[in-house]
Amino acid sequence: MKGEKKTKIVKSIRIDVDKCNGCRACEVICSAFHASPKYSSNNPARSRIRIIREPLTDIYVPVYAGEYAVAECAGRDKYTIDGKEYDECAFCRASCPSRPEFKEPDSGLPLKCDMCEGEDEPLCVKWCLAEALIYEEREEEIDDVVEQAELEIGLDSLVDKYGMESLMDAVARMADKG
Ligand code: SF4
Ligand code: SF4
Repeated sequence: MKGEKKTKIVKSIRIDVDKCNGCRACEVICSAFHASPKYSSNNPARSRIRIIREPLTDIYVPVYAGEYAVAECAGRDKYTIDGKEYDECAFCRASCPSRPEFKEPDSGLPLKCDMCEGEDEPLCVKWCLAEALIYEEREEEIDDVVEQAELEIGLDSLVDKYGMESLMDAVARMADKG
């Protein structure tokens, strides 16, 4: 029933920025895992984790792909880290129209970290030998309505990209295949 409370395991990854050395192994394994077929190629542009790099000052900040945003936000804050200035978008997790990060290079569809669905532990965590990525699990009460909202956000992005008619045609074809 809608609105009924239930619990689920919430997976998250804690990032220890001080330990990241910018090796980008996390980008490599993430893009390979999500290649089709799996592990057939790797392309960091397909990765759901990106390293914001400033090698001259040894700053590497892992950023995970989060939610899809239909429009760019009004945020124009600046960050200064070790004397180097970054704009707010540099560390943003959203797949958004104003920048190329977290978009599938061929289709332009938004990318979002799925915690390596089907794996016992996220692969970027396994491959991070510097231990900058730490996998954590906790149990949380969730609302069915929230899950419904997430589904609608995903569908909205497909409608924006392909139009309602094409999307409905594709769903009808998938239903026919059974
Ligand atoms: S694998 Fe770990 S150390 Fe290497 S870039 Fe990714 S987060 Fe940083
Ligand atoms: S948890 Fe999996 S999907 Fe998410 S960034 Fe890491 S490797 Fe990619």
